[in-house]
Amino acid sequence: NHDLDVISAARNWRVDASAPATPAEVIGDLFASDVLTLEDLKTRLSKPAYKSLRGTVERGERLDPAIADTVALAMKTWAMEKGATHYTHWFQPLTGATAEKHDSFVSPNGDGVAIATFSGKELIQAEPDASSFPSGGLRATFEARGYTAWDPSSPAFIMRHANGATLCIPTAFASWTGEALDLKTPLLRSVEALNRAVTPALHLFGASLGTRVGSTLGAEQEYFLIAEEYFFRRPDLVMTGRTLFGAQPPRGQELEDHYFGAIPDRVLSFMTDAELQLYALGIPVKTRHNEVAPGQFEIAPIFEQSNVAADHQQLIMQVLRNTARKYGLVALLHEKPFAGVNGSGKHGNWSMSTDAGENLLEPGDTPHENLQFLFFCAAVIKAVDEHQDLLRISVASASNDHRLGANEAPPAIISIFLGSELTDIFDRLESGQGGRGTEAGLLGLGSSVLPPIPRHAGDRNRTSPFAFTGNKFEFRAVGSSQSISFPITVLNTIVADAVQSLTAVLKAKLDGGADLAAAVGEVVRETYRQHKRIVFNGDGYSEEWHREAEEERGLLNLRTSLDAIPHLTDRKNVELFGKFGVLSERELAARQEIMYDIYFKTVNIEGETTEYIAQTMILPAAAEYLGDLGAVKIPSRALDATAREVAGLTDELYDALQILREQNKALGGEEIHDKAHHVRDHVLPAMREVRQAADRLEKVVADKQWPLPTYRQLLFVK
Ligand code: ADP
Ligand code: MG
Repeated sequence: NHDLDVISAARNWRVDASAPATPAEVIGDLFASDVLTLEDLKTRLSKPAYKSLRGTVERGERLDPAIADTVALAMKTWAMEKGATHYTHWFQPLTGATAEKHDSFVSPNGDGVAIATFSGKELIQAEPDASSFPSGGLRATFEARGYTAWDPSSPAFIMRHANGATLCIPTAFASWTGEALDLKTPLLRSVEALNRAVTPALHLFGASLGTRVGSTLGAEQEYFLIAEEYFFRRPDLVMTGRTLFGAQPPRGQELEDHYFGAIPDRVLSFMTDAELQLYALGIPVKTRHNEVAPGQFEIAPIFEQSNVAADHQQLIMQVLRNTARKYGLVALLHEKPFAGVNGSGKHGNWSMSTDAGENLLEPGDTPHENLQFLFFCAAVIKAVDEHQDLLRISVASASNDHRLGANEAPPAIISIFLGSELTDIFDRLESGQGGRGTEAGLLGLGSSVLPPIPRHAGDRNRTSPFAFTGNKFEFRAVGSSQSISFPITVLNTIVADAVQSLTAVLKAKLDGGADLAAAVGEVVRETYRQHKRIVFNGDGYSEEWHREAEEERGLLNLRTSLDAIPHLTDRKNVELFGKFGVLSERELAARQEIMYDIYFKTVNIEGETTEYIAQTMILPAAAEYLGDLGAVKIPSRALDATAREVAGLTDELYDALQILREQNKALGGEEIHDKAHHVRDHVLPAMREVRQAADRLEKVVADKQWPLPTYRQLLFVK
């Protein structure tokens, strides 16, 4: 089948002839050259306007509307110097993608002359026609207005395309009644909640007044690259982002020769190109390497403030997708594009830091620093144990269901990996044994003291959904295609809650006359005793762990997304998000509704696509091959047997297809909740049956007649 020519797929790229950027250029001129930084604005604004804007950006002070016009003018001038003709409010609706609606800077002035305009009003607020974005019932159609509002804490940037450029202004997106319709608003609120909860604790540890706290995020992105020619010949990849068919190739990832292997020239050229664009956008990408599966790769930036990092994460996905096409490749960000090989995650490395850059999860050199470290670490343990459900919900999606617990990614059970050294320290604190150190009395543990805490944990555990990695936690259950915003919103909020309650206990002890070391020792010990069931350093993939987690430790095992989503509006969660002003009950209910809706639509599209491919591509291919076999008039045992096998499998495919067809038509109920359950319980299993028959056919039908590029081609032709 010349349509699926492997040679042309492998050759279909050119080396970008433009000279590569030198390290000096990258560091000197390129980095953040398309970002409007505070530095840039300093030279473009009056002193008072700049000072006022800086207060907003750095200390979250209220934006002074009086400076909006000057800032807008400076922005427009800068953007036009950079070649931008349009501007857009850039936002993150609840689809998980980004949205933009471009407006031209140019408006005709009535005399047939075009002038460039962009006012403070247009900078601060816009009203996109928002009726088609998911609102989960927050906006009745008669009040369908939504508005976007400038987020000055994330810098504006220039997005370039082949023949132009656009000024992008990061914005929040809300309904007219002030309810969040996006992923940024609750993230910003959660950062503020964390700041309000953590600063009082820091004061007890002696931090100066005025210290601000935020969360930091570095998100590693895994993805696959496949030849573009194959992508567009696979309706399943085009429609759903994953392969719904495909027999296992003779070779998968068992040789494990891909991981950290040499990166092919074509891929490296793509990566370099993408990185240069990301540098221009001020995104500090740092590492690139081959991942475990053939055709799988990873890109990771240096961490930043979580709001900016979350915006940048969205841009990384966009740049990867766009740039791959220039190299005749397609970047697949789906969590599980291929059955039988590893899926893709987006590991969220998370910590808390002060505005002076002090990492609150960095073990220190002094006992005092370590007290603070243990306190915040205990708070994270408590938070994760008390809110396992929320962490699980934050990564719930139809696509991530294929990955979590599939023996290659963390299980759906949430637990914490602390590493043996840190666990040992907590264990000894709990049992009152202290450590092997020499300073007596510390932590009120009698004659023994806290041992020095290793600055970087030596051991690694890939099987844990939530791992301490020396000076931060790594949330590994996050899916590769999702927005990182909600997982981080959840983390910020649950840790704010835990810190707040531990701070109250600590403060009471201090008010009662206890000294800091003794009081912290008691708080940490008590917290660990209550919550240590969440700590697990063993193999998260093992069946043994599933049994132990559920039966002995009583941890939640919310296996599929639909087991998790209902808990979003549990009383505990409504109260938690309400207390910190992160999401109201109505906003939570809306999000829950949207999660059901997206789940249902995702599987529904997959069901229909499976039906379509099986009926219109695979059945005809089998029939054609059967015809060829039947056309041979010379008796042959080989041909007879093959024909019988193909005919048998084709009937199996047909039978499975009839069931899928019925299930695709059935709805399962009126409510979105019922529809979602219907597709999980009836459509997904019916799809599996169809696939099984089809994948077996793939192994007997003539290669040249098989209508879909195979796994062998998708994964190995580069
Ligand atoms: P590791 O040795 O654990 O792989 P790296 O330093 O390579 O650690 O970091 C892995 C990821 O974690 C990177 O994206 C990095 O930016 C991020 N990271 C490092 N420190 C922090 C931090 N304090 N907060 C958030 N993310 C961090
Ligand atoms: Mg990785």
